[in-house]
Amino acid sequence: MTRRAPLTVLLAAPRGFCAGVDRAIQAVEDARAATDRPVYVRHEIVHNRRVVSDLEAKGVVFVDEVSEIPDGAVTIFSAHGVARAVEDEAATRGLDVIDATCPLVRRVHHEGRRHAAQGRDVVLIGHREHVEVEGVVGQIEGAVHVVASIAEVEALAPRDPAMLAYITQTTLSVDDTKDIIAALKARFPAIVGPDTKTICYATQNRQAAVRALATRAERIVVCGARNSSNTNRLRELASFLGRPARLIEEAHELEEAFVEGVSVIGLTAGASAPEILVRETLARLALWRELTVEEVTTATETTRFAPVEMSVLA
Ligand code: SF4
Repeated sequence: MTRRAPLTVLLAAPRGFCAGVDRAIQAVEDARAATDRPVYVRHEIVHNRRVVSDLEAKGVVFVDEVSEIPDGAVTIFSAHGVARAVEDEAATRGLDVIDATCPLVRRVHHEGRRHAAQGRDVVLIGHREHVEVEGVVGQIEGAVHVVASIAEVEALAPRDPAMLAYITQTTLSVDDTKDIIAALKARFPAIVGPDTKTICYATQNRQAAVRALATRAERIVVCGARNSSNTNRLRELASFLGRPARLIEEAHELEEAFVEGVSVIGLTAGASAPEILVRETLARLALWRELTVEEVTTATETTRFAPVEMSVLA
């Protein structure tokens, strides 16, 4: 029997679920266990097909709009947050709502509203098609300009350049955001805003871990969903650091050719990707190669959020 070639797998730590994702999934499971009423979630509770399928198997229904939720059903808002109009629609319908919006996304809502209340236009650094950004824009009464690039900063036309503030989506690239903030400050010296820490701790930690992997790994595999912002940023960062990177939603998407001739590979997972995907990816790699798995720890996460308010079920 031919001996399989050795492969060292550097496992990023931290990787996978963040505190906001844990909390949101727990809220759906608790709601399902606590009531016989139908449980509907507006949007994927977190951006991961495996998580959604597991909850669907327990009877939870996922919809895109509140209008699809029947009267009397328990309604859950996802970790990404929603616009005021969505909250209002649910309230008008008399739906019992459990709001699983991540507290760190809520913080961005508050920050944006505070600036708008002071009469400032708000520049939201983020991707306008992302559901979190839709929610943030819809939470702020006033002018909001979404920018995702320096070119968009150059094209900005605020009402009063002296009355501007910026906030950021929680799951951006730390480096891209720094550059956009620098461009904003150069063009609008009076602009006010937080530092890049509006990008959440989990996003920053997972990007720092990929940086550490890239110092030794020849290639990097990122487990997570293609519609997950923080997961995409991990893949982009690995590529930017000169490491061919593959984003996979399921282990079977990984092809043997990707690790051919490679002796050290990095493996991580986005904040909405369950650990089982990492385990299944390791099992797939073990089909082809003799694995040595080494965890590379760049931070220890202790952040935990209070459970989601569930009093509507009482
Ligand atoms: Fe909250 Fe950050 Fe996790 Fe998003 S990635 S749910 S903002 S902790």
